[in-house]
Amino acid sequence: MGLLAIGTPLDWPEAKKVASHVREWGIEQLLAIWRRAKGKERDAMLWGDEIEYLVVAYDDDKREVKLSLRQADILEALAKDEELLKKGGGVPDLNRGTNRSGKTAPTFHPEFGRFMLEATPGAPWGIGFKDLLDVERDMKWRREIAKDHMHANEYPITMTTFPLLGDRKSITPFYPPSGARLRSQFVPDEIANPHIRFPTLAANIRSRRGRKVELNVPVFHDDKTIWPFKDPTVNYDLHDWPEDDDVRNGAAKENCIYMDAMAFGMGSCCLQITFQAKNTEEGRKMYDQLSPLGPILLALTAATPIYKGFLADTDVRWNQISRAVDDRTPEELGEEPLKNDRWRIPKSRYASNSTYISQDSRLRPEYLDPDLVVDEKLKARLIEGGMDDLLATHFAHLFIRDPIVVFNEDLQELDLKKTDHFENLQSTNWQHMRFKPPPPGNEIGWRVEVRPMEIQITDFENAAFSVFIVLITRAILSFDLNFYLPIPRTTENMETAHKRDAVLNEKFYFRKDVLPPRRTARSSALNGASAPASGTTTPSYQQSRPSTPLFRPVEEEYALMSVDEIVNGSNENRFPGLVPLVESYLDSLNVDVETRCELAQYLALVRGRASGKLWTAAKWIRHFVREHPEYKQDSIVGDGITFDLVKAVERVTKLEGKDGFGREMLGRR
Ligand code: ADP
Ligand code: MG
Ligand code: MG
Ligand code: MG
Ligand code: MG
Ligand code: MG
Repeated sequence: MGLLAIGTPLDWPEAKKVASHVREWGIEQLLAIWRRAKGKERDAMLWGDEIEYLVVAYDDDKREVKLSLRQADILEALAKDEELLKKGGGVPDLNRGTNRSGKTAPTFHPEFGRFMLEATPGAPWGIGFKDLLDVERDMKWRREIAKDHMHANEYPITMTTFPLLGDRKSITPFYPPSGARLRSQFVPDEIANPHIRFPTLAANIRSRRGRKVELNVPVFHDDKTIWPFKDPTVNYDLHDWPEDDDVRNGAAKENCIYMDAMAFGMGSCCLQITFQAKNTEEGRKMYDQLSPLGPILLALTAATPIYKGFLADTDVRWNQISRAVDDRTPEELGEEPLKNDRWRIPKSRYASNSTYISQDSRLRPEYLDPDLVVDEKLKARLIEGGMDDLLATHFAHLFIRDPIVVFNEDLQELDLKKTDHFENLQSTNWQHMRFKPPPPGNEIGWRVEVRPMEIQITDFENAAFSVFIVLITRAILSFDLNFYLPIPRTTENMETAHKRDAVLNEKFYFRKDVLPPRRTARSSALNGASAPASGTTTPSYQQSRPSTPLFRPVEEEYALMSVDEIVNGSNENRFPGLVPLVESYLDSLNVDVETRCELAQYLALVRGRASGKLWTAAKWIRHFVREHPEYKQDSIVGDGITFDLVKAVERVTKLEGKDGFGREMLGRR
């Protein structure tokens, strides 16, 4: 997270008054970036991952595990670690910019939850194979460093959500709900990072909405679950805040686990990958082509089967984060006729993305989102300022939102050398892909961030998915692959990815013909690896493919496929499969045997997840709970089960299945 400026944040009614002002200045700052950086060329192909951790604290005697709210202490210890600083790591000076010279120790960052940590490599990776093979080691290093700055009974685990979050006893030190900012029944305000930005974000989202955020996750209906299920933890008799009426007004839905605060979403951990493109054109292509992969990646990495002490009937975190920051008013939601607000808005600020931005002749108008809401005035200004229609549409769509956290001090004068107002809107549009313009004052280029993935339990898995994304991106660019799918189909796929065991049982819309018709696919070498002499290559299965007529109906371009077919290939749809495409790409380069073997382990994990041979963490965790002797087949995940589960997760993190435990998830290592 960037943007930790200090100042006086405006409460919601005040922030709303200056919303247009902030948006207009944000657009001017964007135009300044555009003018300066649109012609940026030949930036290095760099990339970086982000790993988010939950800090847990055990009490072995009591068989209890809680979330430790010591983020600030741990970050402070990291910032003071001289050894780490000497190696370039620690806690970055946010203005330092990127250090690309040589190996640097990892850096650690705050996150929304006061029980969370984020760690990134000290400097972005190149795409040479050496870097690809360093990622896992670096991730392990990060975890070790983090652990070294914690108490003996604490551990950084990479579960997406803490199973008991929302249980009053689940945090240490203890603070009672509810506070003025979140007004939650279940979690205190102290659950959030105390930096003024975070509680303001939560409070202003709630104020803008006019009620608390509302998360209802279908509960898993087990043999002895009391049915219909009424969340037994909901208190209908509270009268501390006006928002306590929410549940009396029907906020908690039947057969659902009910949650009421930003922490239930933004307290989740994910795995994100950012790429730097060589220029805008390449960045825009990456943004578009990776977008349809989002739901597939979400299903493949599913890791979230428990909320607030109950087994859920869904496997992933996405919609919960989406609802946890959904600031739409009843008018924008379509619950009331439009009177004060400007438009109905189909999606939360946190949602799958709704635009394509590449000036690609393969982008058919039929792929675009027919429900896209755009601020036409701001779009006109962007076009007047020299931006093309597609990209102007993209940003004018992001800018339909209000800024949530506005600092009074920033409204005095417009500084075109800064990006604060632009980033205010940009960084609170949490879509599954993000197009990041070059910040001023350094040489960073146009970047694309891939955001749908769930964090995995082990560093091996997190490295595997990171490397897979890097390689598929290289294959996309090298073979000029075409994954275009109408955006509404991606939106639907995102919902599908939530279903329990979606990776095994569900079908996703996916494009059938992804190879360029009849043209020989171009190959480009990875930096540092030698390219084949001819510089061109054709994937073997392409040679017998018929050419595709250019303008057949869009509906015929895609089919419903299982994740197995999408990842491993489908005869029926004559679809090559994402991993075979990656392998074909690797075949086109001279990769030494050792490297190829190491990469093969990662690709085997992705293949195994898709085929069902290997379990997702969601399946593994659910299985662990259901087999636990204390579990009563009633959907309730109690303290003892959670203690054993988190210990089991730690064991898998450390041993990665080498002792046989967790092997159904990881395979044989
Ligand atoms: P976010 O705003 O998404 O939290 P971060 O600052 O945490 O972004 O960085 C995301 C990732 O981008 C990190 O892994 C970092 O190493 C990487 N990164 C930094 N600079 C570049 C760059 N120029 N190109 C690609 N990745 C970069
Ligand atoms: Mg983060
Ligand atoms: Mg980050
Ligand atoms: Mg972030
Ligand atoms: Mg940032
Ligand atoms: Mg990020």
